[in-house]
Amino acid sequence: MQLAMINDEMLPLDKLDSAYLDRGLYFGDGVYEVVRSYDSRIFALDEHLARFANSLAGIEINDVNIEQIRKKVTAAFETAKIHNARIYFHVTRGSAPRDHNWDDHIKPNFFLTITELPDFAGLKQKGIAVLTCPDLRWKKCWIKSLNLLPNILARHAAAAKGCDEAILVDDTGLITEGSGSSFFAVSGRTLRTAPLTANILPSITRGYAIKAAENLSLQVIEKSLTPDDAKNADELFLTVTTKDIIPVIKFDDKIIGNSQPGTFTQNLITEFLKFTRTNTKT
Ligand code: PLP
Repeated sequence: MQLAMINDEMLPLDKLDSAYLDRGLYFGDGVYEVVRSYDSRIFALDEHLARFANSLAGIEINDVNIEQIRKKVTAAFETAKIHNARIYFHVTRGSAPRDHNWDDHIKPNFFLTITELPDFAGLKQKGIAVLTCPDLRWKKCWIKSLNLLPNILARHAAAAKGCDEAILVDDTGLITEGSGSSFFAVSGRTLRTAPLTANILPSITRGYAIKAAENLSLQVIEKSLTPDDAKNADELFLTVTTKDIIPVIKFDDKIIGNSQPGTFTQNLITEFLKFTRTNTKT
């Protein structure tokens, strides 16, 4: 008898729910997005869907209609009725008996959750500590892949040292990004962050933070930093959809800006929030 075992329960293989045969589970063979709403309006959905389409194409999942995904996301959001929501969704290549190769006719699986976002105001007022970790990820970090082992191991290592985020450093000694965020430094009136290469995720919040900086007449330089550059900066911050801009007040052992979120960072937070009200980069 062909069988499966789930924890302590054995069952015939043909009675197994196909969710257990999801290639996302076996291989991380899928891509995901995280979108959020501010005051009952989904923010930057077009940009997230465009990135999702790129991620799908990047792993050769070809038969997904992005307009259908938009409909699913908006329908679920309207049903959930959560004002400040975190909308997570992924598409995997589909369910099939475990085999590295896939059948081109396999049907993709869609999965979504909507949850209430906590209020990150305290985090923004206090700032966070970060820890550098080696960037052990693959060479296509522009794809928002379900394979996040290097990211979660780095985040866990950071948490073990009392830090909220791991800052990933590549083999040449340059900072790429956070384990789940983009990384920025402010020195004088200059904002610096890594350029968009295959080694980092084209973060949606990063784009809005750069626009906010331009609105505040900061010079923006897309050039990678070393950990020493970061330690010598006036201000540091992270960007990510769920929390937008989060000040960093400790980088490894170095206190940044007297342990206080920097003035430019605070101004950027305010400027960023204007985008969330209009949903445009103006
Ligand atoms: N970089 C990585 C590795 C991430 O996982 C994320 C978000 O999950 C980001 C950057 C920020 O991207 P976004 O601003 O689109 O949320």
